[in-house]
Amino acid sequence: CGIVGYIGDDQAAPILLKGLEKLEYRGYDSAGVAVYDGTSLQVVKAKGRLKVLSDMINGGKDVPGTVGIGHTRWATHGKPSDINSHPQVSDSGKFAVVHNGIIENYLALKDLLMKKGKMFVSETDTEVIAQLLEYYYKGDILEAVIKVINKVEGSYALGIICADDPSQIIAVRKDSPLIVGLGKGENFIASDITAILNKTRDIYRLNDNEIVVLKRDSVTVYNTDREIVAKEPSHIDWDV
Ligand code: GLU
Repeated sequence: CGIVGYIGDDQAAPILLKGLEKLEYRGYDSAGVAVYDGTSLQVVKAKGRLKVLSDMINGGKDVPGTVGIGHTRWATHGKPSDINSHPQVSDSGKFAVVHNGIIENYLALKDLLMKKGKMFVSETDTEVIAQLLEYYYKGDILEAVIKVINKVEGSYALGIICADDPSQIIAVRKDSPLIVGLGKGENFIASDITAILNKTRDIYRLNDNEIVVLKRDSVTVYNTDREIVAKEPSHIDWDV
């Protein structure tokens, strides 16, 4: 189970695949990416090894774009399958979410959202996050994310992109690992530093429920009261 995210000037998909490869040691049963192609979010995902995913991407399901999120899944809720793979997407296709961890209260939330007319396609706990984001979204993505993390219980590392504002990736974690990689004209998220060590050695470590807004040229961290949190970068000296 692992997460990688990229925003910058380079093509996202090769960076995501390379990063996910470095996280393979953590174990997984499925993999996927979502990339913004200039018009909408393109999702490619499949049960099986990363090779299955990279063969799809290199063999016709190309996902051009310079902002994206990637995931390797270790299924906890819902069997390993193409549909249960991440990214999970909201009804309208506006939000794509990658998640490591477990949403404990997903059944109650799923029930509520279904009553509000949301159509679920997967058996995952994660899909609740994508749908809940869309449910709360009224034009302010950060506000929707804060509402979602106030509502969900459990553990999570999340990477989120919204087609309405592809100039940013939003990330947040609680009781699941996630770091921010700081580049020049590009920034990253990853479950662990090994995924992006070939790109940067400067990182932010994140405390529970610190919300990161990752842009090409900036990284801003907020608390759940939407106040900016001052972060000190750490430099990684060791080699892998
Ligand atoms: N609970 C989520 C799922 O089963 C995420 C699993 C993971 O951490 O990879 O889809």
